[in-house]
Amino acid sequence: MNSVVIGSGFGGIAAAIRLRAKGHKVKLIEKHPDLGGRARVFKKNGFVFDAGPTVITAPYLINELFELFNKNPKDYIELTPLKIWYQFIFEDQTKFNYSGNETEMKNQIEQLSKEDVIGYEKLVTFTKKIFDKGFTELADIPFDKPLTMMQQLPALLKLKSYKSVYSLVSSFIKNEKLRRMLSMHPLLVGGNPFTTTSIYGLILYLEKKWGIHYSMGGTGNVINGLTKLMNEIGVEIVTNSEVTEIITKNNKITGVKLNNEKEINAENVVCNADPPAFYEKMLNKSKTNPLFFKWKKNRMQYSMGLFVYYFGTKKIYENVEHHTIKFGNKYKEHLDDIFNKKKLNSDISYYLHRPSATDRSMAPEGNDCFYVLVPVPNNQSGIEWETEGEKMKDLVIRKMEKDLMPNLRENIIEDFYLTPNYFENELNTKFGSGFSIQPKFSQSAYFRFHNKSEIYDGLYFVGAGTHPGAGVPGVLSSAKVLDKLV
Ligand SMILES: Cc1cc2nc3c(=O)[nH]c(=O)nc-3n(C[C@H](O)[C@H](O)[C@H](O)COP(=O)(O)OP(=O)(O)OC[C@H]3O[C@@H](n4cnc5c(N)ncnc54)[C@H](O)[C@@H]3O)c2cc1C
Repeated sequence: MNSVVIGSGFGGIAAAIRLRAKGHKVKLIEKHPDLGGRARVFKKNGFVFDAGPTVITAPYLINELFELFNKNPKDYIELTPLKIWYQFIFEDQTKFNYSGNETEMKNQIEQLSKEDVIGYEKLVTFTKKIFDKGFTELADIPFDKPLTMMQQLPALLKLKSYKSVYSLVSSFIKNEKLRRMLSMHPLLVGGNPFTTTSIYGLILYLEKKWGIHYSMGGTGNVINGLTKLMNEIGVEIVTNSEVTEIITKNNKITGVKLNNEKEINAENVVCNADPPAFYEKMLNKSKTNPLFFKWKKNRMQYSMGLFVYYFGTKKIYENVEHHTIKFGNKYKEHLDDIFNKKKLNSDISYYLHRPSATDRSMAPEGNDCFYVLVPVPNNQSGIEWETEGEKMKDLVIRKMEKDLMPNLRENIIEDFYLTPNYFENELNTKFGSGFSIQPKFSQSAYFRFHNKSEIYDGLYFVGAGTHPGAGVPGVLSSAKVLDKLV
């Protein structure tokens, strides 16, 4: 069986490995010279900048890929658990060290709000129930038939999936700082905590179940380890090649065409490119009447865009934790501006990554390596990033100087940034969204883009826009869904 995988994000690589384990002849085709997609790496003058994912959860999903071929993952990658998962900083400069140590968690919660300790315990118990259903039971099953969804609806409603994550957390927790902190998880997968279905509250428990890990050498080293595995098991990797057309006969896929005009025959095509953007380019070739599908696609709401500023400093900031999350004051209004009004707001919230806190190999000696991520509107906004990019860079440096890194500007020796334009033009995502479509209830499971194409026979999808959703565990699980379909 000949299979082609389009795109080398975590989802595409996992799909290629899983198909190979089933005995398929697999070609992995990537537009760029390097692999990883959102998880690719930029190296500049001794600094190693992981472009995207930094928080590794559910590491067993990565390990499984090596184990499929009886390989020891430790021969390829080194994952190390972190003690402090996130340091939260609030507008009044108070800090909270969020970790898997329940005693330390409860002590800090008690200092903020005594009555919320019991609420926190109840919240964790409730998120375990969501996790058991939403992750353990449903994350890797196909949702291509309405009946599968119907069967799950009663259980999902019992778990209050009609609520948002923020509203679920607020039903257990009174303190506003704690509410923000314990409901932030949708932001990690492109959703607004005020509108994302509470099913995504499962991430809170998922982190507790396996911990938060860091890949030594950066997340890019996981991609390197998986690339080594693909070479050993005979996945053919074709880089610098963009798929521009799918070739069909009577609505059955027969192959793909590359930008160099070369055609590759295949019985199965697995697409790891963003489904809405991909369908938009390829759909006009379909002979079926995809009216319902077009309606579904057109009503989709997209995740936020990302402004990511990568920088290296000539001094070491020992006071900065590996992962820092800073909430702006007008947090809810800020999110509303990003997701609904699609406009910029200077009261930004941000996530700061300092891998060199754990791994000195990420920066030259005596230097420090960072990226700071600011959620911004996606490209439905019409924002001119050519001019707004510099302004955003200036704003986020000023905020970081005020919050935790005085005189930062004069210590920066290497920097560059990415805006939603990069995600749209380089990574081929619709509207330059950071995480494909939003994780709302009306866009989850059956309502998301199906792993088995609704339109073409022999076409499958893995990655952030498909079931179960964005984030490394999500896209690795989407490749497990494929196992049951192909
Ligand atoms: C800045 C940032 C930080 C993040 N942090 C975390 C985190 O800490 N933890 C976490 O779990 N998740 C995180 N995420 C989310 C996570 O990175 C993504 O959900 C996941 O990596 C997406 O993988 P994917 O399989 O959907 O493919 P993608 O990474 O989207 O890759 C798709 C690939 O397809 C290629 N492609 C597209 N079109 C074509 C074509 N026509 N022909 C050939 N190739 C094509 C692209 O070049 C790309 O390489 C983060 C994301 C970002 C952007």
